[in-house]
Amino acid sequence: MTPSPTTSTETASDPRHIVIVGGVAGGMSTAARLRRLDEAARITVIERSGHVSFANCGLPYYVGGVIQQREALLLHIPESLAARFGLEVRVHTEVTAIDRDHRTLTLRRVAPEGTATGAATETGATEELHYDELVLSPGARPRILPIPGIKRALPLRDIEDTDRLAAAVAQARTAVVMGAGFIGVEVAENLAHRGLDVTVVEFAPQVLAPLDAEMAQIVADRMRDHGVALHLGHAVTELTATEAALDDGTRLPADLVVAAVGVQPDTALAREAGLEIGPRGGIVVDDRLRTSDPHIWAVGDAVEKIDALTGEPALVPLANTANRQGRLLADVLTGRERTDRPVLGTSILGVFGLQVAATGWNERRLRAAGRPYRAIHTHPASHAGYHPGAATMALKLLVDPQTDAILGAQGVGEDGVDKRIDVIATAMAGGLTASDLADLELAYAPAFGSAKDPVNMLGYVADNLRTGQERTLQWHELPQALSDGEVLLDVRSAGEHAAWAIPGAVNIPVDELRERLDEVPEGPVVVHCAVGVRGHIAAQVLQAAGREVRNLDGGYRTWSVARELTV
Ligand code: FAD
Repeated sequence: MTPSPTTSTETASDPRHIVIVGGVAGGMSTAARLRRLDEAARITVIERSGHVSFANCGLPYYVGGVIQQREALLLHIPESLAARFGLEVRVHTEVTAIDRDHRTLTLRRVAPEGTATGAATETGATEELHYDELVLSPGARPRILPIPGIKRALPLRDIEDTDRLAAAVAQARTAVVMGAGFIGVEVAENLAHRGLDVTVVEFAPQVLAPLDAEMAQIVADRMRDHGVALHLGHAVTELTATEAALDDGTRLPADLVVAAVGVQPDTALAREAGLEIGPRGGIVVDDRLRTSDPHIWAVGDAVEKIDALTGEPALVPLANTANRQGRLLADVLTGRERTDRPVLGTSILGVFGLQVAATGWNERRLRAAGRPYRAIHTHPASHAGYHPGAATMALKLLVDPQTDAILGAQGVGEDGVDKRIDVIATAMAGGLTASDLADLELAYAPAFGSAKDPVNMLGYVADNLRTGQERTLQWHELPQALSDGEVLLDVRSAGEHAAWAIPGAVNIPVDELRERLDEVPEGPVVVHCAVGVRGHIAAQVLQAAGREVRNLDGGYRTWSVARELTV
């Protein structure tokens, strides 16, 4: 049906009219804060889907039945936003064009629910709406792989997608999830909770790109332990009505297929309006979130942010960033002196009882950029080991060897990972060095941490490396060291060595080392223990005895997780 334009009755007038496109994370944060700061402004929110202010981050958990009430996902409805904030909220309405010269928008009404294929149907009615200031928060769109049959793959972006996926799950026994990013992994877990046989297919050789391979391996092992099959390093090449075909000829049964291969900024409207688009494909904004048009502003997944490490444009499609930008923009629009800060990309997810969190850059990215770094792996307990319920986590810190600046951190474990990564992200934002982590005063009681918190411990290692008190070797450097004839010394107990040993290691327990120094073979030594702590003590003993020594970073535990990986 051809849209039937209607004549606009809107004109520029007092009070100031601020129109916001997109009524979820960034858009609604802007709207609510704007109202709190300016009781007089007219604020209109235009939203294409049928819902505003919904909890996108909770969608996978509704599909999995963890969140049981659909209404719990809907934090507000247009009526409640009108009552509390005096907002004019129009759902099922799409902004299709921006006339920048006249500061008008073309709006098109879309039908409440989908056609047989699930796409929203256009009702045809259009109208124009004047704005004084325009805020774009259109978010990101799921990437669509150009493969035969892709139409049957379901995305998960909004409530409508969620309803479709939840309905399909009820009919399915087998599922293929395309993509092992955050959403793919969360969806896989939730489909498994619903009793489906789930296979995840990921083109990269690992799950969860923000992690380095040896950290991601812990997550992959946990997923497999819970019955999720992983096809890493492979692509889906075709979807039929009942199967997913992979590039190695594998055919996977798939009553249900979920597409979660990433998102890209939704810039269609901005491009059409001639706004500047940046090198990463997002809308360009300045540090006050103004686009290339002085009356158009933009926030959230659709905009390019500034990377905290490089100052270069970056895409960081995360809720915290969108919400912070939304609030900040309201401040700017009401005359407050605020500027947006660069982003670290701090993120977390849960999967089968593991917390998985990261901030800043990972080692893979640093290496690819040719940026010097130092890596530190530790395996501390989430709280004092003598207090019930302590769980071991894996932490990784990346440090600039010249400046001691923290470049990034990752954590995987059942408990306490969230606060450690958040502390490190805060330290990074505050410009603390890696060695400064040693001196952070952090809350402690046995049920919550250790008197020397895992974050302090990372600082101790960083300081030892910075001052040359210790030298370490990474898991992927061990084969070369051994082929160069270096001695591998296992300083764990004889019992631990007998149970699991790195091939070629000589065992002298750390407590016997001072008496048995003459048994250490000639040559440079690599010491290792379970996690690196006893190795550090042994390294100091050997160093004092005049030996050249390096401690295997992260000990046996990191090595054993990573041994089959390549960097
Ligand atoms: P959105 O919140 O996506 O809102 C954009 C809205 O604009 C959409 O509703 C869209 O319909 C509307 N729109 C677009 N164009 C138009 C138009 N022309 N006219 C009218 N309306 C339009 N982030 C985290 O940090 N942690 C998480 O755990 C997490 N989990 C997630 C789980 C899922 C399933 C999804 C989909 C996302 C998740 N995210 C998470 C990402 C987070 O939701 C986004 O970063 C955030 O919502 C972005 O906010 P935004 O305002 O930019 O876009």
